[in-house]
Formats: sequence, C-alpha cells, structure tokens
Amino acid sequence: MTTLDLPTATDPTISLVSIREKVLAGRRLTLEDGRFLQAAPDLWGVCALADTVRKRMHGKAAFYNINRHLNYTNICALSCSFCGFFRKRGQEGAYEHSIEDIKREAQLALDSGATEMHIVGGLHPYLPFEYYTDMLRAIAEVAPGLHIKAFTAVEIVHLAKIAKQYKSNDRTAGIRWVLNQLKDAGLGSLPGGGAEVFDDRVHDEAFKGKIRSDVWLDVHKVAHELGINTNATILYGHIERPEERLVHMDMLRTAQDEALARLAYAPDSTGAITLTAEGAQLPTPEMIEKNRIKGEQGGSGGSGGGYFQTITPLPFIPDSSALEHLPGPSGIENLRMLAIARLMLDNFPHVKAFWIMQTLPLAQVMLECGADDLDGTVVWYDITKVEGDSTHQETTVHDLTRAIREAGFNPIERDTLYRKVTRHGAEWHV
Ligand code: SF4
Repeated sequence: MTTLDLPTATDPTISLVSIREKVLAGRRLTLEDGRFLQAAPDLWGVCALADTVRKRMHGKAAFYNINRHLNYTNICALSCSFCGFFRKRGQEGAYEHSIEDIKREAQLALDSGATEMHIVGGLHPYLPFEYYTDMLRAIAEVAPGLHIKAFTAVEIVHLAKIAKQYKSNDRTAGIRWVLNQLKDAGLGSLPGGGAEVFDDRVHDEAFKGKIRSDVWLDVHKVAHELGINTNATILYGHIERPEERLVHMDMLRTAQDEALARLAYAPDSTGAITLTAEGAQLPTPEMIEKNRIKGEQGGSGGSGGGYFQTITPLPFIPDSSALEHLPGPSGIENLRMLAIARLMLDNFPHVKAFWIMQTLPLAQVMLECGADDLDGTVVWYDITKVEGDSTHQETTVHDLTRAIREAGFNPIERDTLYRKVTRHGAEWHV
C-alpha cells in the first residue's frame, strides 16, 4: 500500500474461508473482515471472492454507456490539496462556459447518440443560482431525451449557499430546496463525486473547506427521499489510512440500508439489507414504481425513492496537485481496493471500473475482480487524467465493447438508470 500503515487483522478466526462462507450466505462483512481483506497476502483469492459476488449479481454482463462529460467551469473558491483541476478567476487556463457553449455541447451529445450528459464543475464564487437551472433547461430543450447526471454533493451545498437557502441549523431544508429546483429544471440523478474519504482528519488535511461526510450524506439522503438516484465514490491512495477506507464504505452501506428500506427491502436480523445473496432482486425503476403504487394502495410496497446505484473507487492521481510528492496507488492496490469495495458494499447494485482513471487494460482485469461497469465513451474529461496534458479523453463504442469481449464478458449498453438500451445508430430507446 502506498498510504501510511498496512492494516493488520486482529481476529485470528477470520480467514478467506470464513469470509467466503459469509459471502456465499449473502451476509454482511464486518470491518474486521475488511481489515483481513486489506492485508491478505492472497490478493487473487480476494479478487476471486469479489468475482463470485459480481457473477452472482450480473453473470457475464458488463455495462457501459454512451455519455458526454461537461465541466462547465474550473474556477473554484476552494483549493483542495489533491486537486489539479481548479483555477482561480483570471489565472491562466481558467474558464467558464456560457449557456450557448452548453447548448452546443448538448447538440454534440444528441448527434453522437449519447444517453447521458455528466456535468460537474468547480465551486464558482460568482455565477448566480439561475445559471445552473438555465443550464439544465437549455440542455433539456436541445436534447430532451438526454439524462442529466449533474452536480456533486459539494456543488449542491454551494448552490444552496449562493441561492441563500442554506441554514446551518436546518441544512437539509436548503438542500431539499435546491434539489427540487434542479429536478424541475431537468436534473435526472447525482454523480458520486466529492465524497473523497469520510474522515475528519483527512478532510482537515486534504480538503478543508469542502463539506464533511455528514453533509455529503445528507445531500444524498435528501436526493433519495425525492426519488433521485445517486452514486458514490471513494478517492483513495493519498493521506488516508486503510481503516478510514473501511469506515467510509460502512457509512455508505448504512445510508443505502435506509434507502432500500424505503423501497420495501427487508433487513436481516442485524439490520443489514444486502443484495449479494443468490437470487436477490436488484432495484430497478420499474420495480420501484410498482412498489410505490402498491404502498399508496395500502400494501407493503414501501414509500418509493432513490438509492445509490454505483460505487466508483477512484485512485488518487498526484499529477499537478499539492500532493504531487505522493506516489499514488499502484495497479495492484487498485485491484484490491475494487475487490474490497464489491465485497464490503453488499447493498450497492454496481461497482464501476472508471477506465479514465484506471486505464482500459486495468479496467478489463477489474471485470474479474468485482467490477460490472466501465462507465462510458466520456468524450471530454477535465478533472483528473492518467496521462499527458490533453483534456480530450474519449473512447469509441467499438473499443469499449471490444475491451469487454476480450476480457470474456458480454457488453450491455445501459442508460444512466441501468436500463438496457436498444440502439440503431444515434437513435435509441430503453
Ligand atoms: S476538488 Fe472540487 S472543490 Fe476541491 S478545489 Fe478541486 S474543484 Fe474545487
């Protein structure tokens, strides 16, 4: 590991065999189990366990989508030490896109047959709240069928502040107000960025000024209450300790337990709701709607709502950041982290190998270590990249599906909500 101390499992009764028994029974792993997996010399044994779970949930399917990323500005009020993306206003390389620029991007997405526009940016100190709703409405006008996945929890809180809706004594009210406004303007779901590592020490050392874990989780919980699906990330391999990664994952799965309970999933005797048992039904938009109607009619259908769809482990890439002196995680560590995410996050339907940061060859290997999704064609990604100065990163459907087939899996094009896409050129439907 590149980070601080190696974990040591302290419980001598834990082994890959005992963990395998739990995994096969669909039971939740403890933090102690997680410590064992972090330290286990048999990395391939850990990966094989994660692969068992992955194949149970998704068989040989490997998902991808056709998407376009938009970073509307890199101007940011904060200066997180791991970030090589932000600029200050007036600084060389700083930019902010106009609504006209954004309309052009939407048209390009439409012309290329994209099903999703993925939008994130810096915390711009001067753009008014209306810029964000205008942005969403402009995209919806140009490309009405495009799913807009936009704004990390950090941006949502920033928007609540600039709209003067954020009150520290009742922060969920401001978050709810913003999400409702954005949803009305066309927001479809939230990406998972900005989570970093849920730990106050890491927060204070690496991204002080950014929201803490409780606020990040509040944003996602309110989104779920409003029926908005979200995603989650963990940015690892910088100054965090292995234990802190496990706590992060534990906090995420507890939040997902709450979301799934609202969808009428029953907890086990420990209060956990897992999706990894043989035959467990994964949530889908259709199932949620059916359950919601059942609940409204007085049945046991739950109250509906959104949930976390995907966890994306993001390896820290030191280039151009204030932590450039750190080595960043190795490929081997990336494999282990991804496999552990699959095993610990037993109630997350999907685990993504984000090829932009992992590279396509490593993402292929990750399909055998717990990942079932490679993200998409991307086109433009300005946040963090693994090579060169160019921000133009894209792959073709041909290359993405070939990579999946080469790895021995069946490529399935999905939309943002993981519905199967049927396509004829740029025309598509779910
Ligand atoms: S990580 Fe996000 S909030 Fe922090 S400096 Fe970079 S763009 Fe700004």
